[in-house]
Amino acid sequence: AMITSVHGRQPVHGSRKKFHALGDKALAVCEAVREQLITALGVAPELISIGRNGINTEQYQPCPAPINDKPVISIIGRLTGPKGELCYRLLDECLDLTAYRVQIATGSAVPERFLRFTEQVQFLGYVEDVPQLIAESDLVIGAGRVAMEAILMQRPIFAIGEALAPGLITLDNLNKAMASNFGDIGPKDLDIDFATLPQRIADALQANSPDLKLIEQVKAQYDLRAVTDQLEQDYQSVYVYKQRREMPIIMYHRFIKDDSEKGVHGTYMHVDMLEKHFKLLKRLGYQTLTFANLAEQGFAERLNPNKKYIMLTVDDGYKDNYELLFPLLKKYNFKAVIYAVTGEEFNRWDVEQADNPEKRVPLMSPAQIKEMADSGLVEFGGHTLTHPHLDTLDKDSQRFEIAENKTQLEQLIGKSLYSFAYPFGSHNHDSKDLAQELGYPFAVATNSGPLAMHEDKYQIRRIAIFPRTDVFGLWRKVRGNYTFRKREK
Ligand SMILES: [Zn+2]
Repeated sequence: AMITSVHGRQPVHGSRKKFHALGDKALAVCEAVREQLITALGVAPELISIGRNGINTEQYQPCPAPINDKPVISIIGRLTGPKGELCYRLLDECLDLTAYRVQIATGSAVPERFLRFTEQVQFLGYVEDVPQLIAESDLVIGAGRVAMEAILMQRPIFAIGEALAPGLITLDNLNKAMASNFGDIGPKDLDIDFATLPQRIADALQANSPDLKLIEQVKAQYDLRAVTDQLEQDYQSVYVYKQRREMPIIMYHRFIKDDSEKGVHGTYMHVDMLEKHFKLLKRLGYQTLTFANLAEQGFAERLNPNKKYIMLTVDDGYKDNYELLFPLLKKYNFKAVIYAVTGEEFNRWDVEQADNPEKRVPLMSPAQIKEMADSGLVEFGGHTLTHPHLDTLDKDSQRFEIAENKTQLEQLIGKSLYSFAYPFGSHNHDSKDLAQELGYPFAVATNSGPLAMHEDKYQIRRIAIFPRTDVFGLWRKVRGNYTFRKREK
């Protein structure tokens, strides 16, 4: 999988085919670039995400307005190309060089035509400490990263770049300004009404200090952490959909050793067949993962191309899990996640059912739960107190079911839980919100949720294993593309 960053306008003669050579997905640095890729190059909109240039926002702190005898205006940018033309016209047409003290920070040498301003304008050359310069300025003029830095320092920024002049950045125009990377990217160069600039700049100098909310919004969009998280998400999506491969999470319930223990619901598995499953998984080189592993190593680890991961999950917490599954986990050194109901002693939710009542099956004891958790081979997850259809309950009742079960399990095993399973896979918005609110990093559903699991960590899809799932059936289900093929049927 390959993702390309697109930082500026692309030459229009670049063909769609040529663009495709760039990768599976493109990250446009701002909305204007995205727009151009779609309209001028015909790139499909779903192939393009916004991927802003990250900035270490911790390096910049709000600072008080400076006290200057004359307003100090700092222009930060190149003196060559369209930026040079822009700067020249600002000095020539827009800025009152006697009323303001204008200083220019630039990496380039001062071009010939600027020499006539040297009496009135301070050319600083390359400035090492840009934050210090921003702190001393009553107004900063610049685009792109300069604008972000000024906003983070709570100094007024008049955004103007090679393409557009968004002007003084406020909460009202922030989104629009970000779309052009604060003036640098638009359909054409210097699309600016220079005649209006003197008044707009004078107004900007009179305006109140920038709103602190601007800082929060810029952090949310540009902070390195947010940007890299977004990038990692995009990589995972490209990988999963291109390879048509996702880590299988399979779901068992009960285990039996004799046919007489079969039930009327298809939720049992003969222990001999379970051992055949485990033998196959071992032979195919699978390693088992749990949600604690994913929380530690990052969710993307599940897609590590050098590993073959599977997650074994077992719902409800039946006593047979202790008697039949636990010995096999030890024998094959596999880990499993067991979702345990804690407010019942047997499967009352299935037994007290009008049509097709299930036989009575005991749940495991607290001592058995504790022993399995302590072994390191079983990670417990929540599954409510009484196994209700959560989507039929109001939010407070859902909260009670989920929270009490979590507290009971955590107190018993002395560790916090990493995941929750919706009973019957039934859930609504409240259920998902509660799983998150109550501190679960992940929640699993059954046959619902996006094909790429990271896209909704509170509706993670699982693959059901049925009594008739033999070794060949298991092989088909764990190959990694099962849910993709199933969806196409
Ligand atoms: Zn269940």
